[in-house]
This record gives sequence, C-alpha cells and structure tokens, in this order.
Amino acid sequence: MMFEYAPAPESRDIVDIRPSYGLFINGEWVEPQGEERHKTINPATEEVLAEIGWASEADVDRAVQAARTAFTTWSALPGAERAKYIFRIARIIQERSRELAVLESLDNGKPIRESRDVDLPLVAAHFFYYAGWADKLAYAGLGVDPRPLGVAGQVIPWNFPLLMLAWKIAPALACGNTVVLKPAETTPLTALAFAEICRQADLPPGVVNIVTGAGATGAALVAHPGVDKVAFTGSTEVGRKIARTLAGTRKKLTLELGGKAANIVFEDAALDQAVEGIVNGIFFNQGHVCCAGSRLLVQESIAGDLLEALKRRLATLRLGDPLDKNTDIGAINSAAQLAKIRELSAAGESEGAERWSPPCPLPDRGFWFPPTVFTGVAQSHRIAREEIFGPVLSVLTFRTPAEAVEKANNTPYGLSAGVWTEKGSLMLWTASRLRAGVVWSNTFNRFDPASPFGGYKESGYGREGGRHGLEAYLDWNHR
Ligand code: NAD
Repeated sequence: MMFEYAPAPESRDIVDIRPSYGLFINGEWVEPQGEERHKTINPATEEVLAEIGWASEADVDRAVQAARTAFTTWSALPGAERAKYIFRIARIIQERSRELAVLESLDNGKPIRESRDVDLPLVAAHFFYYAGWADKLAYAGLGVDPRPLGVAGQVIPWNFPLLMLAWKIAPALACGNTVVLKPAETTPLTALAFAEICRQADLPPGVVNIVTGAGATGAALVAHPGVDKVAFTGSTEVGRKIARTLAGTRKKLTLELGGKAANIVFEDAALDQAVEGIVNGIFFNQGHVCCAGSRLLVQESIAGDLLEALKRRLATLRLGDPLDKNTDIGAINSAAQLAKIRELSAAGESEGAERWSPPCPLPDRGFWFPPTVFTGVAQSHRIAREEIFGPVLSVLTFRTPAEAVEKANNTPYGLSAGVWTEKGSLMLWTASRLRAGVVWSNTFNRFDPASPFGGYKESGYGREGGRHGLEAYLDWNHR
C-alpha cells in the first residue's frame, strides 16, 4: 500500500462554494424559517466547506406547496416540451461535469477518478435517458394514457449524492411529476449545485425543490399529506420506519435499501479478471455501495491462489487525497460511518475471523480506513451478516455450486450478486437461483440507465432505471 498526499489546488479552485446556503424553493434561494444551521465538511481534511440551513416542518410545507402549484402546469405540458428541459439539464451537467466531480469528491471523500469517470457520466446519462422517455410514455407498456402521480417526496443517501439525485429526479420529471428532494446531511453540496442548474435550464419554478436537513426533515417530507409518491434510498432501518408511516395512506412507495452481496468465484474462473472484479466490487467508493460485493464466496480448490493474488493486488492500491488522480481509495464519508466500520471490524476479530490489511499509513486528519480482508469467516459472524458499508471484505469458501447458492442466499438482503465462471451453463444455473435483484457475470458494479435496479427481501421494493423505473412515477390504474 502506498500513500501519497499530493494536494491538487488547481482542481479545488474550479469549484465555487458559497459560505452558506439556504433552501431551494419555488425556483428561489430562501432562508430556512428555523434557526438550525449545520456545517458540511470535507471528510479527507475535516475542513469546513459551507454552512447549510436545515429545513423545518414549515419549510418542508412551503416546498410541497410550491411543488403542488407547479404540478398543474408541468403535468399539462406535452411530453416533448418536458423533454426539452430535461435534455437541457443533461447537457448543462455534461458541460459542468469537471466542476461537479470536484465538488462531489470534496463533500463525499470519493476519489476524483471515480466521480469524474463513473458518477458524472452516469448522472448525465440518466437525464438523457429519461428525457427520451418523456414523449413516449404511451409506448411504455403501461396503458395508453399513463398519468403522473403528483408531488414526489424523495430522500437520498450520501454515497452517490448526485447520482442518487439523478435516479430520483430524472424519471419523476419525465413522467410529469414535480419534486421535493432531501439530500443526505453530510453531502448536500452537489444537490444545491443542481438547484442552480435547474435555474440555468429555466426549469419552471417549483418543479424541483431542494430541502436540506437530517432525518427529521426527511420524516416531515415523507409524512406530508401533500406528497403523492415517496422514493427513498438509504438504510433498511429508516426504510422500515417510512413504510410504517405510509401504511394505510394513498401514497405510492419505492424503497432502495441495504445489501450484503455475494461475489461467487468458481474454480474455472479467469483468476486475474476475478481479482479485478473483487477489488472493484468491494473497494470502489470505499465500499460505500449498497450493492458492494462484500462477501467473497470462493471455491475451496482455488481459495489459496485467489487470496494470494488478491493480497498482491491490494498492496498496489493508493489511499489518500481524493483530488489526486492517482488515488484509488478515498476518505470515509463521516466520523459516524468510520466508527461503524471500526466497530464491525473489531467484532470480526473477536468472533474469530482473521484480519488482514496491506501496509497502509493513514493521514492524520480526516476519516480513513484501510482496505481490509477477513478470512476464516463463518456465516454466523456479524461481518458475514451485517452491512458494513466500508472497505471490508469477508471471505467464505464453498465446495459445490449448490453450497455457493445456499450461502449466497443466506442473508436478509437481496440487492445484487456476482458470478465468475467461464461456463455459460453454470453461470445461468447459478444466476437463476440467486435471490438478488441484479446478478452480474464476470463483472461487478456495472450500471446503465436502461437497466432496472432494485432489491429482493429486505433490500427493498420497486425498481429504478430503465422502463421499469417509469412505473413508480405513473398512475396507470386510473381507469
Ligand atoms: P440512512 O437511512 O441513515 O439515511 C438516508 C437518508 O434518509 C438521509 O437523507 C437521511 O437524512 C434520511 N433519513 C434519516 N432518518 C429518516 C427518517 N426517519 N425519515 C425520512 N428520512 C430519514 O442511510 P445512509 O447512512 O445515508 O446511507 C447508507 C444506506 O443506504 C446503506 O444501508 C445503503 O445500503 C443504502 N443505499 C441503498 C441504495 C440502493 O439503491 N438500494 C443505494 C445507496 C445506498
């Protein structure tokens, strides 16, 4: 493991962060009615980036009212007219992508290589993709006259701040809904930059509203009687609370929750390719990925060779300044998340698993955790059952394909899985038995706006992305 702290001040300079931000309601920046303001920090340095107003119940009410008013005209626009605005947003995101990537890395801690090459291209692609659907909804297979639902209340997490916003806002607008979105408390800056982009695109006031704040703001939004549809991405625990709040109401709900994905490597797999897939599966975005391949299931006959190759590869990863283009592993997003990763890793050791990390000096300031591999993991261990949401891999072994499937499915989650084999028949046999919403084969963490994404079991319900993603924002049962 090499660590090089090479500040890149030229990149930092291309973003323009204001000292403080209000809320974006009805196309205007407004001060929150409550007194509460919080600082958002750079997790790599603990430097304060900006002060953020937190929306009270009254602020959420203002935002929902603005969205309700805007709904009348926005939903009446022909699809092709709505598409023009969404295409415009997509193009502005492309034009400003360098700046937005730096802002995302500053607020989130993720390596610039990832925000620049993965997050931002996908954000723009989502807006382009759904802009294309806006005038074709009658051909989506959801009836000839599908109608928008009304106001969508959307709550997102901190791991892919702008990408999760795109997953939520692009289909909602394409279908003719208006939006009130609450970003996560530790990563509000790109959502606030997006508010500016809405103004740049001349989006009519009230079509998109951004309310910043923590759990209480999110709870006020989802419970608001003026909200017709709730879309939530975050932890299973909060998802359960929201499902309870909404039970018995007319509101539609989609939940994208946690995961504990198995990455299954069979003995005939191309080893070097599998090693790259394992590294990408769990160390991409510091493992802050709901569909991360956090459980490696490797066939016993190749376990020794695979682990040796994996450790050699991990020793080459660079941890450090997220703005350095050579960085592979950035900062953990918050002190609270770091404490959670440390606690679960300590539990792994005390329950008897063997812990390994490459030599890896950590910076003095900021929140950091080295890439970590646990071997000798039993299915009963907490590190095999609970979502760690950090750069920690739990390795288990299996002898037969049936045992691999049984172990992979032995989790309350069911978001994603990976299968590595050169045999097509084994690939299909395994994939058809895995209880996971997405199964990747000989690759991992691949996303595309045209592909639906979502979970089984406690990973949530509903699908985002693709044609399926339209269903959540349309009422096609109105007759
Ligand atoms: P979290 O559930 O703590 O917070 C998510 C969002 O919900 C934040 O904006 C938060 O402020 C808000 N919130 C908190 N309490 C709330 C309440 N009572 N009512 C309404 N909103 C509330 O999750 P997190 O720590 O931000 O994100 C990590 C989790 O998100 C992980 O479990 C991860 O697996 C999951 N995730 C899932 C997907 C997916 O697509 N399935 C994608 C990314 C992250």
